[in-house]
Amino acid sequence: MSESFSAGKEVLSYCGKCKLSLGHIIVSMKDANTLGKVQCNTCDATHMYKDPASKTKKVKTASTRKSKRSVSVGELWTTLIGKASGQAISYSIKSTFIVGDMIDHKKFGPGIVQTLIDDKIEVLFQHEVKLLVHGK
Ligand SMILES: [Zn+2]
Repeated sequence: MSESFSAGKEVLSYCGKCKLSLGHIIVSMKDANTLGKVQCNTCDATHMYKDPASKTKKVKTASTRKSKRSVSVGELWTTLIGKASGQAISYSIKSTFIVGDMIDHKKFGPGIVQTLIDDKIEVLFQHEVKLLVHGK
């Protein structure tokens, strides 16, 4: 240590009130080499010595934002189409489909059979879910 601190001497400390590194008068020492309380020359506030070099506040990275996001039809479709294997079956009212089948609809394009409801199938297309008749 080249410098020695003692009560009554001036030191540069970060002031929480002024939000600046300013000259402070040492009020008390923790021990011979550790600064204790300091008084701000500018606002007269007495507080613990804060090293100006370490004044940068650690920004909390953890966001409080709740990720309560619902998956859109488009996202679900993309996921399912990505997982689907095999050829898309051209949709026809005469064909019979099962859950998981990838179908190719003339009007709506590729879709995945989601649910079977009696003689109907619920199909997830890129932009909407459609109820189609099958097995006729
Ligand atoms: Zn101050």
